[in-house]
Amino acid sequence: MDLFSLTKEQLADFLKKSSEKPFRAKQIFEWIYQKKVASFDDMTNLSKEFRDFLKKEIQFSSIKLKNIVPSKDEQTYKYIWELEDGHFIESVLIFSGIRRTVCISAQVGCKGGCVFCASGKEGFIRNLKTSEIVEQIVNIDRILFQKEERISNVVFMGMGEPLDNFDAVFASIQIVNDEEGLNISQRKITISTVGLVDKISNLLNSDKNNFSLKVNLTLSLHAPNQKIRESILPFAKKNNFSELINIMKEYYVRTKRDITFEYILIDGVNDQLAHAKELARVLSLSFKDKGHANVNLIPYNPVLGVNLRRPKKEAVDAFFEELEREGIKVSQRYAKGSDIAAACGQLAFLNKNKETD
Ligand code: SAH
Repeated sequence: MDLFSLTKEQLADFLKKSSEKPFRAKQIFEWIYQKKVASFDDMTNLSKEFRDFLKKEIQFSSIKLKNIVPSKDEQTYKYIWELEDGHFIESVLIFSGIRRTVCISAQVGCKGGCVFCASGKEGFIRNLKTSEIVEQIVNIDRILFQKEERISNVVFMGMGEPLDNFDAVFASIQIVNDEEGLNISQRKITISTVGLVDKISNLLNSDKNNFSLKVNLTLSLHAPNQKIRESILPFAKKNNFSELINIMKEYYVRTKRDITFEYILIDGVNDQLAHAKELARVLSLSFKDKGHANVNLIPYNPVLGVNLRRPKKEAVDAFFEELEREGIKVSQRYAKGSDIAAACGQLAFLNKNKETD
């Protein structure tokens, strides 16, 4: 059993079944999530016998920090973790104003097969366990804590498809949202998805033990129509374009949370003014109140071995302005961390046979 896989209630249940005091779950949560200790032995208000019992029954950590790579401007840090089976995953910490955003992985590899993304190039290996997700956040938070800082935002935009690992992602959000956990509000948590319609519906009906998910949702749309979407995102063949827009609209209506459409701009593929107009039309038709359908433009970040180009700045600006003219709320994501291959789409896993150091 992994410590960071357990909700407070699960930990209390386990203690009760082991004839221990269930309220100790709260104390343990405070030790690990608020005082940020890194071992059972640091939990000094617990008796030695109880700590020994915990050590015997529960594994404290399941990922190991291998390396931290800072970007030149020291605004972005890539964390490389080794898993127990020898695979490596990555998370990225981004400093932006007062925000400390951690971008985390949900799977080793990815099934998406998006032509522009490094994460799926080596295929799919496995889902991450809840603890492997939570520990990416907790371990980085512990490092920030030493500088009297803390993580403010969590985005599931690292490697893998979070909705394809629904249960572990659900549990990890419940854990970091807990008031005695990291107490990160769901408003500060974002899931980005390639567009699993049935899983988005599951999000809407995700009530489990009085906890339901109400996070910000981002769809990797990347095209103004089904045809272009399928050409760069093979996974898109499995879902229908308008069905996707509709489920996003439903998500907004029912949760009142921000929804965002991510749109990678790729030279000559989806970056023409006609595409901007088509996108604006699609969103205007579905969202009467266009202010709630944000478009986030991401100029393509280069990925080794991929023969695509980022559009010129003028093309990006023109696309941006066209959407704005049509009344769409649009923003542009700047590639943070591209010098350390930590920008969107550049995260990849190394497998144990490929480790070079
Ligand atoms: N599987 C989820 C989570 C990954 S999020 C999803 O598809 O949304 C990673 C984000 O970075 C996605 O919007 C993805 O489409 C985008 N991305 C991937 N490769 C990229 C690249 N080379 N340049 C810019 N953005 C990229």
